[in-house]
Amino acid sequence: MCGIVGYVGHRDALDVVLHGLGRLEYRGYDSAGVAVLTSAGTLAVTRKAGALANLIAELDGTGRAALRGTAGMGHTRWATHGAPTDRNAHPHRDATGRLAVVHNGIIENHAQLRAELEREGVELTSDTDTETAAHLLAAAYASCGDLPLAVRTVCRRLHGAFTLVVTHADEPDLIVAARRSSPLVVGVGSGEHFVASDVAAFIEHTRDAVELGQDQVVTITRDGYRITDFHGAPASGKPFHVDWDLSAAEKGGHDYFMLKEIQEQPSAIANTLRGHFIDGRIVLDEQRMDIQELRDIDKVFVVACGTAYHSGMVAKYAIEHWCRLPVEVELASEFRYRDPVLDRSTLVVAISQSGETMDTLEAVRHAKDQKARVLAICNTNGAQIPRESDAVLYTHAGPEIGVAATKTFLAQIVANFLVGLAVAQARGTKYSDEVAREFAELEAMPAAVTQVLSTVDQVRELGRELADAKVVLFLGRHVGFPVALEGALKLKELAYMHAEGFAAGELKHGPIALLEPGLPVVVIMPSPKGRAVLHAKLLSNIQEIRARGARTIVIAEEGDETVRPYASHLLEVPAVPTLLQPLVSTVPLQVLAAEIARQRGYDVDRPRNLAKSVTVE
Ligand code: GLU
Repeated sequence: MCGIVGYVGHRDALDVVLHGLGRLEYRGYDSAGVAVLTSAGTLAVTRKAGALANLIAELDGTGRAALRGTAGMGHTRWATHGAPTDRNAHPHRDATGRLAVVHNGIIENHAQLRAELEREGVELTSDTDTETAAHLLAAAYASCGDLPLAVRTVCRRLHGAFTLVVTHADEPDLIVAARRSSPLVVGVGSGEHFVASDVAAFIEHTRDAVELGQDQVVTITRDGYRITDFHGAPASGKPFHVDWDLSAAEKGGHDYFMLKEIQEQPSAIANTLRGHFIDGRIVLDEQRMDIQELRDIDKVFVVACGTAYHSGMVAKYAIEHWCRLPVEVELASEFRYRDPVLDRSTLVVAISQSGETMDTLEAVRHAKDQKARVLAICNTNGAQIPRESDAVLYTHAGPEIGVAATKTFLAQIVANFLVGLAVAQARGTKYSDEVAREFAELEAMPAAVTQVLSTVDQVRELGRELADAKVVLFLGRHVGFPVALEGALKLKELAYMHAEGFAAGELKHGPIALLEPGLPVVVIMPSPKGRAVLHAKLLSNIQEIRARGARTIVIAEEGDETVRPYASHLLEVPAVPTLLQPLVSTVPLQVLAAEIARQRGYDVDRPRNLAKSVTVE
C-alpha cells in the first residue's frame, strides 16, 4: 500500500510532492510526511499521523520556509508495522538526520535486521520495519560515499516486498529509488524527473513514464534517469505514455470521487470493450501463449480478492456456460496455501484492479510454478501481475481514486466475459456469429447502465431512510448471488454497517433466523423472462421474508409486476440478458452504500482502515 512521490527539478519540491501525495492518498492515510533537500544543504522533514490534511495543517502552522528546495519526497502510509502515530510516520531518518527513506511494503527480515542494528548500538526511534533500512543505508553510504551503490547493497539484504525512495543531504541533486514486488514508475519531464507509486502523482507535469522492472534501482536527477539492477548492471524500464489526463483524476464536480466513478461506469464498460472484437475474433491486449494452449485448457481457476473476487464469481457462470469447462473461483489469499491441482492445461484468471495485489500476485506465482497458464485482468498498465502473466486483458476504466471499487468492478465483469468468449472461440464452443451476438449485447450495456443512473435520486432517498439500520441482508441467486455479496461488501466498507450477502436458497438453512420486523433485506430478482425458474424461487423467498415482517428492498427488471406486492421498496433496472444482469443490478447498491455512508458522516472516498491497493499479504 502507501503512496510515494519523489522529485528533482526546478520547481518548489514541497509543492510538487504535496500535490502528488494528494492524488495518491487513496493508497493509505494513516500518516503523511515529506522530506526536502533544502537550498541550505540540509534535509528537512515534517511528518504527521492521520490524513494528508493533518500534515498540510502542520506545515501551514509552522511555516513552509524551512522546506524550500527543488528536490524532495513524500509518503502516505498504510501502517503494517507500528501504530499510525507521528513517530512511525515516514520519512524515516538515520542517526545523523542527513539520510531519509520512504517505503512501501514490508521488510520481512526486519526483526533480524533490528536486532543486528541494536547489537551495533544503533538506537531505533520507531516501531516500523522501514527504519531498519534507513540505518542500513546510512552505514552503506558511509562506507562507499555513493548513494545508488548504497541502495543496491542494502536492497540485496532485504527480504519481502518494497519500494524505497532515498535522499541524502550530501547528494542534493539526486534521488534514488528501488523496487521489488511493489510499484514504482518514473516520470520523465523536461529539466525535472519524478518517481512515484502511480502516474497520478505527476500527471499534471508529464505523461511520459517508465515502469521499473523487478529488482531495479533508478537514480533521478534534473536532467535524466539511470536504471540498474540490484548488482549495478545497466537495465532498462518499460517506457509508456499515459493516455488519460489530470481531469480524469479530479472529482469533476462531485462531492466524492466514488460518486464520479459510479457515473463513469457506462464509459468504463465501453472503453473496456473497445478494440477487443476484430475481424470476428475476440482479441486480448497481450498474449504470450499460443492459441493451441488456450484450446487445450481443461480447467479454469479464477483467483482474486474482495470486489474482484465477486466479479470472478460472475465469470464462473459465463465461462462454464459458454466454454463447457469446469471453473473454480478462489480467494487469492487461500489459493496457494492449500494444494490446488494445477497443470499445463489449467488456465488461472487473476483479477486485480491495481495489478499489484500481493495475495493475487503470489497466487499467480504459485500457478506459474505449477506450470499453469495465467491470464491477468487489471486496470493498471504494466503492473506486476500482468507482467508475470501469459496473457493480459486490461480494463480501461481509467484511474479509480475512491477506495471502494465501483467502475472497475463493472469493467472486470466485462473483461471476464471477453475472456470467456475468447476461450469459447478458441475451443470452438462458440461460432464467430455467436460471439458477435454476445459482443453486441455487451456493447448495449453502457446505455443500460446510463438508464440505471437516472434513478440515482430515488436510491439516495432510500439511503436516507436506511441510514439508521443496524444490519442489512442481501439475497440473490445465480449471478445475483455475487451482486448480493458485493452490495453487502460496499455497505461494510463505506458505512461500517454489518451487512451480509447470501445465496437466496440458503435463507432457510440458517439466515432466516436473523429476520425480525423492520430488518432491511435487499433482494436481487432475476429477470422473469431469462430464467423463469429462478424468478419463481426468489419470489417465494421474498414472501418468506415478508411473512416475518422484514422490510424488502427489491431490485427487479422494469415491468416485473409480480414482485410489486411484496416489495417495501422497488428499484427497477432495465431488462438485459441473464448473464449481464450484474452490470445493472450492482449500480443501485453502490449508490445506496455511498448515500448511507454520507448520511452517517463518513468519508466515502477514504473508508477507515482500508487502502486502495493491498500490496501486503
Ligand atoms: N511497512 C511500512 C510501515 O508500516 C510501510 C507501509 C506502507 O506501505 O505504507 O510503515
